[in-house]
Amino acid sequence: MFDVLIVGGGAMGSSIAWHLASDPAFSGKIVVVERDPTYARASSALSASSIRQQFSTPLNIHLSRYGIGFLRKAHQLLGVDLGLKEPGYLFLASDAGQPAMRANHAIQSAEGCAVELLEPAALRKRFPWISTEGIALASHGTANEGWFDGPALMQAFRRKARELGVQYVGDEVVGLAPHAVALRSGERLEAKTIVLAAGPWSGEVAALADIALPVEPRRRSVFVFDVREPPGPTPLVIDVTGTWVRPEGRFYIGGTTPAEGNDPAGAPLEVQHQEWDDMVWPTLANRVPAFEAAKVVNAWAGYYEYNTFDQNGIVGRHPEVESLVFATGFSGHGIQQSPAVGRAVAELILHGAYRTLDLTPFGYERIAAGRPVRELNVV
Ligand SMILES: Cc1cc2nc3c(=O)[nH]c(=O)nc-3n(C[C@H](O)[C@H](O)[C@H](O)COP(=O)(O)OP(=O)(O)OC[C@H]3O[C@@H](n4cnc5c(N)ncnc54)[C@H](O)[C@@H]3O)c2cc1C
Repeated sequence: MFDVLIVGGGAMGSSIAWHLASDPAFSGKIVVVERDPTYARASSALSASSIRQQFSTPLNIHLSRYGIGFLRKAHQLLGVDLGLKEPGYLFLASDAGQPAMRANHAIQSAEGCAVELLEPAALRKRFPWISTEGIALASHGTANEGWFDGPALMQAFRRKARELGVQYVGDEVVGLAPHAVALRSGERLEAKTIVLAAGPWSGEVAALADIALPVEPRRRSVFVFDVREPPGPTPLVIDVTGTWVRPEGRFYIGGTTPAEGNDPAGAPLEVQHQEWDDMVWPTLANRVPAFEAAKVVNAWAGYYEYNTFDQNGIVGRHPEVESLVFATGFSGHGIQQSPAVGRAVAELILHGAYRTLDLTPFGYERIAAGRPVRELNVV
């Protein structure tokens, strides 16, 4: 019998494993069941790996604030250099989007975020390479936002967890009960606590125990492009359409959110090149004239672990099946939150309650109660 069994060894599952195993108060046995040790389809390996403070939900701000502090100390904590860059995020709003941006700004300011609102003239002054056509307001994060090597973070959590005695089993969970899982190999593993951290497949895994969990795989394409004349130092820019772009080494990466109705669950993991032609390139070329000459040099597709209920993480114990703990549904902001969620879930398992950040509002209970904690800034 294991003390803790974690389904899914991506950034979330491996962070939970490492936070538990590295806590001196914990002396139990941990096993992580990961069906694909190459992580070919895992979100953590296909992420844009960016981190921000600009959320509309205070708890998300706090999760990511712990995240950036953790990333800065990654060398000391995990022995890895994550190449953290901190040029900030720049959200753009049209006239229609202005009230929501101001409301989000009020929340972020109250939470102590370093954010400034820029009217078009100030925006042009700060970022002369941007076209302010159709822009009424911009929100610029001046600290604690940027990007990093997400796959390296996941691998470091995994490596360090294993060094501390966590066992990784390369198998697939095909059956789920309160204290046991059935594996595709035919083996059965028992545990006092089972953590569901199966990323985009978490809804499927929960269904094995007849538990409804509103988390499904939603495909997102990322395009890597080159430009002849780079515009200059660039934050991560999110256009009014949701199309985004940021530097990646000497290249740029960008993508968009498919229209609702054209975003089915579990679509094949194939790059949607028409998204570049129809949406990403026209939007970016219009917003940043230097991107008119963009040339795609690579692309990939990955799944968001999309929470259809309210696009926020689902974290904590199942209200009736108390041996089952969720850590999923982060809808495109999970890799930056993996350090804080790992710490929180470890506290919950070890001490029976959260000790630092109280993640109770992200509990499963809100779903049954129909009480969404809706995150408006989902990119
Ligand atoms: C294109 C893209 C861009 C993104 N950009 C950002 C960003 O900028 N910032 C940010 O914070 N987040 C971003 N995200 C989201 C982020 O990557 C995810 O939230 C995070 O990686 C989720 O980690 P995870 O460990 O929960 O899931 P995963 O990394 O998917 O890990 C889950 C693991 O569970 C395993 N598994 C599933 N089912 C089973 C089973 N039955 N048995 C055994 N194993 C199983 C899978 O093989 C997988 O390895 C992005 C995601 C994508 C796809």
